[in-house]
Amino acid sequence: MNRRTTAKPKLLKNLNRRLAFDILQSAHSISRPELAERTGLSRATISLLADELLETGLAVESGLADSSGGRPPVILRFDPDAAYAVGACMHEYDWNIVVVNLDARVLRRHRIHIQPGTPTASVAALSDGLQTISEGISEKILPAIGLGTPGLVDIRNGVIKLAADIGWVDVPFRRLVEDATGIETYIANRSKVGALAEYWYGTRKGVKDLIYVSIGTGVAAGIIHQGSLLVGANSSAGEVGHLTIVPDGPLCPCGNRGCLQQLVSEEAIANLARQRLRKTQGGILKSKSGHHPELITARDVFYAAERGDAAALETLDEIATYLGIALAGLINLFNPEVIFLGGPVGEASAVLEEKIREKVQQRAMSFPLSAVQIQRSSLGTDAGAIGASVLVLQKANELFFRRTTPARPAAKADVRCRR
Ligand SMILES: [Zn+2]
Repeated sequence: MNRRTTAKPKLLKNLNRRLAFDILQSAHSISRPELAERTGLSRATISLLADELLETGLAVESGLADSSGGRPPVILRFDPDAAYAVGACMHEYDWNIVVVNLDARVLRRHRIHIQPGTPTASVAALSDGLQTISEGISEKILPAIGLGTPGLVDIRNGVIKLAADIGWVDVPFRRLVEDATGIETYIANRSKVGALAEYWYGTRKGVKDLIYVSIGTGVAAGIIHQGSLLVGANSSAGEVGHLTIVPDGPLCPCGNRGCLQQLVSEEAIANLARQRLRKTQGGILKSKSGHHPELITARDVFYAAERGDAAALETLDEIATYLGIALAGLINLFNPEVIFLGGPVGEASAVLEEKIREKVQQRAMSFPLSAVQIQRSSLGTDAGAIGASVLVLQKANELFFRRTTPARPAAKADVRCRR
């Protein structure tokens, strides 16, 4: 038999059920006639598709719709718990892994430490974490995983080209994870997935121009412009952490001097606080450090600043100045409606958040400034992991049916902004 004659109906069937999946998911409740109308498919095709949606558990029957005559049609209700997706975000030396349902509601979370911070150790920790988090529910999990990682990520090839903050260069991370776990893997920079999470599931969802800035050991921005993730020519758009802020500042592993991330990382905050403590008498931070200022952490600085400690406040003022310069630049360039501060530094401190707002006010152009709000991430520490799960959820209409049909070669995902 000619292969084309068999392939075409199969392809059509796959396209039709993905379409039905998408419409059911966005409508949440729909009758068969409405589904037929919105898909443009025949009643007979819709009847088969609806039966399949019911058999697979993606839809449940839920009451009767109004009828203009004749028997009222049954309403199909989308069941977001018909399948789950897994996303994981790597922050410095741990993975935050979440299981979400098809509406991206977090059902389980698991944090696992990576020791030491090599790619091999990272993959081993992830692999262990995936086993733990999927215990007892593995049959409901879509056959793929989304990852948010540090560094410049070549999304197409799944390679971390450079993660300056942790010293990784040209790490074929997607292949390493797929080899270790046997699970199809989608990967993007953690700021990009953070932006996707805010766009799809944050408290400001529907805002079409937003930026998510992840601030930790590294700094990067995920930019949603007119509802699409800005990826760039080779998926490295948004590397705000390597903007030069102080021309002759500290050397960055990227080879440049005075990069933003060298000035505002957790280590930079702690170092700056230690320098101030040498000239300081008394105060919360001074007494906390005792005779060991080398033990001060960024977290201590945030704690002391919230309680009005002068050395801590001065430290965060300087950090906010550097971040304010960079964010004012983003505002002038991209005219966002919201900037979300995320990552271990970005989401940690209300004092820092307020100081960043002040510094941005002093520097951004007034017209784009009038349109923007700056706030800490609405999804908190889960933003990156939820965003990583979005990489899977964007393909849910295909992955869901792949679980119930014979395996076939997997297509690699592009990071998209729309399902
Ligand atoms: Zn740099």
